[in-house]
Amino acid sequence: MSAKILVVEDEPAIQELIAFNLKLSGYTVLRAENAEDAMAMIKEVLPDLILLDWMLPHMSGVEFASILRREVRTRTIPIIMLTARVEENDKIKGLEIGADDYMTKPFSPRELIARIKAVLRRRLPELSDDVIETSGLRLDPATHRVTVHDHEIALGPTEFRLLHFLMTHAERVYSRGQLLDHVWGDHVFLEDRTVDVHILRLRKALEVVKKEKMVQTIRGTGYRFTAGTEGHL
Ligand code: CA
Repeated sequence: MSAKILVVEDEPAIQELIAFNLKLSGYTVLRAENAEDAMAMIKEVLPDLILLDWMLPHMSGVEFASILRREVRTRTIPIIMLTARVEENDKIKGLEIGADDYMTKPFSPRELIARIKAVLRRRLPELSDDVIETSGLRLDPATHRVTVHDHEIALGPTEFRLLHFLMTHAERVYSRGQLLDHVWGDHVFLEDRTVDVHILRLRKALEVVKKEKMVQTIRGTGYRFTAGTEGHL
């Protein structure tokens, strides 16, 4: 799944250069030249990461970042601050308001992409192409394959995304609402029941390889993926 990155940058040449390189790396790019436009865009589509210029007309990047951090809906969006300023104080200020990383202009596109990858890997592991293996269950996002000892498990696209999300967030409990937000996407109005239907399908597919107990129901709360199924088998 390609990550949606919002670039907030008022210098057209820099915005263009960044957008070009992001697209080249397979990202979906959204662009804004000021915080106000960016805010309006975020109301429509929630980006997976924001590249935010520090010096913007009207509202500064730092002010905008603190607004994003205060709102429930945008609180957890990873932010990388871009700046021409080099003072160490600014860097500290940027990280204090909750930016995930900080880059000083001019930077090389290659370094920018590497930093984006690092932040996404840490903050949104379900978007990464890294192979994950838990207790013999292996999921490869690049080839879209789920296998157990070379035996391939057939999964629909939604079950695949659901399993990918659960495996990258193992041992944590997610409510149906949280799973809808993370797996189906923001601004999608579906009933909680939808999650149950897909969990059921996922378990049925995993039954073939006796891994269905890795997907646990937590009564009254939601679901959890666990590696430690031995005690329950
Ligand atoms: Ca600027």
